[in-house]
Amino acid sequence: MRLDSTDIRILKLLEDDSRISHKRIAELLNLSRPTVKSRIGKLINNGIIKKFTVQIGREALKENITLFIMASSLNKNILEIDEIVEIYRVTGEKPLLMKAVVGGMKEAVELADKLNEFSGDIIVEIALENLKSEEAEPVLKAEYTCDYCGSTTNTPIIFKHHNVERYFCCPVCLKNYRRAVRESR
Ligand SMILES: [Zn+2]
Repeated sequence: MRLDSTDIRILKLLEDDSRISHKRIAELLNLSRPTVKSRIGKLINNGIIKKFTVQIGREALKENITLFIMASSLNKNILEIDEIVEIYRVTGEKPLLMKAVVGGMKEAVELADKLNEFSGDIIVEIALENLKSEEAEPVLKAEYTCDYCGSTTNTPIIFKHHNVERYFCCPVCLKNYRRAVRESR
């Protein structure tokens, strides 16, 4: 999915306050509410917006057990299991590596049983301690439209105005924009 300036602005507002209403976003960005809704829908469908609340919720539950599971083959049903939060195809004897988070030992055993049905010879390792965990910074490839001249750029100059970021292709456009804003007051 190719993001444009409007998508980026919506993402920034959601990043600041994930509970901001569509109405408020529409007001701030001068968009219609249906536009905001459909854009957010697209961002979710394309995986740009992930389930923030679910991630936070899981971390808040202290009793979680993290499992690393290796399997020989990917059964489509595995993709549907909520407890499995990451799946990688890897090199090595067992080409599938999964990370799962479960609520306790009982759930861990249930998950292992379920996976065994789908994939036969799985190996389950229990994480004892998390020594480092960092989300890789996502690189957003976006095309920004200059808010002054309308040309597009990948490396905009960002200027925050009334809580909304404005994007400019060059310092001249920023200068002209700021002058125009001043004169319109
Ligand atoms: Zn420009």
